[in-house]
Amino acid sequence: MSENPQKISLLGLKEEEISALIPDAPRYTAKQVRAFCFSGRSIEEMTSLSKALRARLSEIAYADPVKVKRVYPSRDGSRKYLFSLTDGELIEGVFMPHDYGNTLCVSTQIGCRMHCAFCASGRDGLVRDLHFSEILGQVVAVNRAEGGTPKARAVTNIVLMGSGEPFDNYDNVMRFLEEVTAPDGLNVSERNISLSTSGLADKIRKFADSGRKVTLSISLHSPFDEERSKLMPVNRKYDVASVTDAARYYFKKTGRRVIFEYTLIKGVNDTDACAVRLKEILKGFPSHVNIIRLNDTGLEMKRPSADAAGAFMLKLNSLGVSATVRHSFGEDVEGACGQLRRRVKEEEDRKDDSTRDGEEKRGGRRKFTTV
Ligand code: SAH
Repeated sequence: MSENPQKISLLGLKEEEISALIPDAPRYTAKQVRAFCFSGRSIEEMTSLSKALRARLSEIAYADPVKVKRVYPSRDGSRKYLFSLTDGELIEGVFMPHDYGNTLCVSTQIGCRMHCAFCASGRDGLVRDLHFSEILGQVVAVNRAEGGTPKARAVTNIVLMGSGEPFDNYDNVMRFLEEVTAPDGLNVSERNISLSTSGLADKIRKFADSGRKVTLSISLHSPFDEERSKLMPVNRKYDVASVTDAARYYFKKTGRRVIFEYTLIKGVNDTDACAVRLKEILKGFPSHVNIIRLNDTGLEMKRPSADAAGAFMLKLNSLGVSATVRHSFGEDVEGACGQLRRRVKEEEDRKDDSTRDGEEKRGGRRKFTTV
């Protein structure tokens, strides 16, 4: 069932914003509510609050905007999470345990407007932006499901690399970063957060000026404008030169090395000429190329062999370009952007088609309100 669309999400609200909702409750109650939200509790589970207050809060708000719907364990140890939102929409995230900590990949939008040729997220376009509490809610829900608390987190690292273009939902992503790093929020260090963008150059500059110092990853995928425009239509607006200039600016402002994501596609962007051109466009500032072999999403484009990816990496290294091949997690559970949501949606649509009216369908877009 979709919830009352007028309800407010408490997760990530500041003490004074919560106080404004319950003006006659003492200030420390707002502090408690804020803390409970970060532990993943629903209002009903905030049992140290009076029953009357919980009932009053439940009428106007909820604390858990993101619920775990299913978990898909992968053979490689990662776990794919399918989440449901209060309007019945579905999003996904991937939890990846490492020896240095555990990374969660979160989504920033439902669908995406970028229409990258190889990506499953954007095939149906943008459905809607995620509210900051829905981005936070993914971290909070998985942290709880994996046995963590806000103080002893199971999720130690966060990558904004799931569905959506973070810089196309800039304000919600900024507020998410503010709350996820807040000492009385989840207290995640900016050093442990990566943000991946398709290269919205103006937003990269704005972000550089914001003072946030997360690891910036830029999806490049080709050093040649003609090829990049075919793979990533956004290149027609922000071409390779504008993206690398913005990356230089980000380094200048933050001192952080920029990562370039490079999805390797057989016979498309894996040539020696690509490697040589990459060296030219990345010269003069610290960067790193992250090579990812294309995840098959049922397209014409082909995934190169591990050997071919290794050879491309060595070619770059021999030219003095820092590069590694990234192991992609969760391939057996459809770990690539938007793949799982797409499949589950298709399954549910088939079910919807075969049932008669009266069945509740996903829908009724709810609008988030903040105080
Ligand atoms: N919109 C952002 C973040 C989401 S995508 C961006 O473009 O960076 C995260 C990364 O996964 C991007 O580098 C994207 O290009 C890549 N990606 C998407 N689909 C893929 C696939 N099928 N195989 C390999 N990488 C893919």
